[in-house]
Amino acid sequence: MATIVKHAAPLRPSRSSTTVRRVDRTDHPEDSVVSIAGVPVGGRRFTVIAGPCAVESLAQVADTAEAVRRYGGHLLRGGAFKPRSSPYSFQGHGLDGLRLLRQASDQTGLPIVTEVLESAEIPAMLPLVDAFQVGARNMQNGPLLRALGRQEKPVLLKRGPSATVEELLLAAEFILNGGNAAVILCERGIRTFEPSTRYTMDLNAVAVLKRETHLPVIVDPSHGTGRSELVLPLARAAIGAGADGLIVEVHPRPAEALSDGRQSLTPEGFGRMMTGIAPFVAAAGRTL
Ligand code: PEP
Ligand code: MN
Repeated sequence: MATIVKHAAPLRPSRSSTTVRRVDRTDHPEDSVVSIAGVPVGGRRFTVIAGPCAVESLAQVADTAEAVRRYGGHLLRGGAFKPRSSPYSFQGHGLDGLRLLRQASDQTGLPIVTEVLESAEIPAMLPLVDAFQVGARNMQNGPLLRALGRQEKPVLLKRGPSATVEELLLAAEFILNGGNAAVILCERGIRTFEPSTRYTMDLNAVAVLKRETHLPVIVDPSHGTGRSELVLPLARAAIGAGADGLIVEVHPRPAEALSDGRQSLTPEGFGRMMTGIAPFVAAAGRTL
């Protein structure tokens, strides 16, 4: 039976290494369902989060949001505070970008998931977001994880490209231990020796996580492959591995995107992905 979780039980005192952790299935055998402004992640539903890598303009994010809604996506993504590999790349529009994302959300009714880079930004972001994303680069940022544990909005925690599954679980434990049990885990590809894709999708991790933890697990085939034409096959594979949902990047004109255009689906491509995953979602005994 699925349960809606929002807050963890009161904090436990110190634990030994043999203590069962809050993330473990041992004490909590049933799957948790995390609600993002009423949209469930986990349980029988297969949840699709989609939108641009970065919020660039109102037209760009509003057009994308409209397409995400039209083709059956459930939640809108979009980065306003962008963690970039280069200091010379577009760093995002910050709070102004978040306000544009909120407008697109209000117009479409799709709740938003957006990345927070540092704890100091949480208070200003709180009234505008439905769920916080912790990016791969910040997975082990203890102060940020602790701060997110002290507030009530759900957290989408992405795996660091060099982090083990155990380290991802321990990162989630920081948030749960602070009192916020609404955590969703995300496999987004890891660094390996293989250069044909941007990262290597570790779908083993999905199968392992589904055994070890009650938290919902989603997959990001956009960052995981770095190639839009590989998003559908890896999305299908993720469903087979037991994922509870997907997060994918969509842009009205990927060639003009200020970030991650190569891996972004067009609105029509997103529509084809939704049609293309439907039989796989059904075969997994879930509903879109
Ligand atoms: C993103 O979602 O746009 C992003 C920066 O992802 P990651 O943290 O997985 O690199
Ligand atoms: Mn991106």
